[in-house]
Amino acid sequence: MAQANIKASRILIVDDILDNLNMLTDLLVEEGHEVKMAMSGKEALKAVKETPPDLILLDIQMPGMDGYEVCETLKSQKETRDIPVIFLSALNETRDILRGFEVGGIDYVSKPFQFREVVARVQGQLNQVQQRREIAALHEKDRQQFDQLSKMREQYMRQSVHDLKNPLTGVMLYSQTLRMLEENEFHKLPEIADGIEVSARKMHRLITDLLDLAQMQIGDNLSIFATDIVAILKKSVKSNLILAQDESIELTLAIPDEKIILQIDGHQMERVFDNLISNAIKYTLAGGKVHASLKQYNGYVEILIEDNGLGIPEDDIPHLFEAFYRVKKPSHKTKTGSGLGLSIVEAIIHQHNGKISVESAIDIGSTFIIHLPCT
Ligand code: ADP
Repeated sequence: MAQANIKASRILIVDDILDNLNMLTDLLVEEGHEVKMAMSGKEALKAVKETPPDLILLDIQMPGMDGYEVCETLKSQKETRDIPVIFLSALNETRDILRGFEVGGIDYVSKPFQFREVVARVQGQLNQVQQRREIAALHEKDRQQFDQLSKMREQYMRQSVHDLKNPLTGVMLYSQTLRMLEENEFHKLPEIADGIEVSARKMHRLITDLLDLAQMQIGDNLSIFATDIVAILKKSVKSNLILAQDESIELTLAIPDEKIILQIDGHQMERVFDNLISNAIKYTLAGGKVHASLKQYNGYVEILIEDNGLGIPEDDIPHLFEAFYRVKKPSHKTKTGSGLGLSIVEAIIHQHNGKISVESAIDIGSTFIIHLPCT
């Protein structure tokens, strides 16, 4: 019977004696394998070229090209080098067996065949083939992930250098102005100092966001504790009240009376709420409303940050959480930002096994929705 854990494998049996071929074929077909036969070395090489098998059972003594020669040929070619070869040997001399290993054979079975031995050796080699393939697939996956990360890093690098250039040029221009300042222009000093400070703050913000994003994506910097998420949302709304007031926006909150304790990094979660609430304020016109709410249901805590602001075009929504992505509409572009905030938010939520999504309509408003598991 075929072993349940092994998929049907393709096996090529090479022997110039038909009885041997038939016997081994019957045995391995019964084991659930797909078997091909070849009666000479030449035929074997042709069959391998047509459909490379997972394993070859190869007789040593054959007229014309013998088994050793066939094996050497297979091992000398890149495409066939890795196919394991088990020699079928009537010769029980150590010298002949050693020669088989020297030319690249992986195992041998002696004639007359002991059926259980043949099956065990074939199965052993097929297991190894399977394991090697799985390892190769894992390496390939790692390689693809590495390539993707390298590409992302390159893109981040290019974009951040580009974004740092403007404020840096600002600082340089202000310094030049300072150096050339005449005594009667000293009243401009506070304005120049402000300019330098604004540019430096922009650079500082961009650099810290980039570092945070990188760290969040690696995900090794969370400090998880039992934390009341209701209190965190409350704190975040409170700390944004002044900003909302300055922008003439009504900021409201709806939360349950009782605590909801989750295993989270409270500091990072506060960052998520701050980011979403300050965005909602930033992208809502004066006189608008921002509402934060939290409720628990079905094993999840759901947090909504809603605004009746500018909204987000449908085409931009799928890209919103990408690093450096900013909506290109002029109404959005007048607001300063790096386009990193939402990618950090998403990375933090993912690190907490949560989900974030957005629903939005232009000139009607946006709702950012977070789901965090309660366990
Ligand atoms: P930024 O630093 O540009 O604010 P974010 O990553 O926080 O970067 O946001 C990405 C883009 O998503 C913003 O440029 C803005 O256009 C859009 N956006 C984010 N939040 C809102 C919102 N509440 N309403 C409308 N647009 C928003």
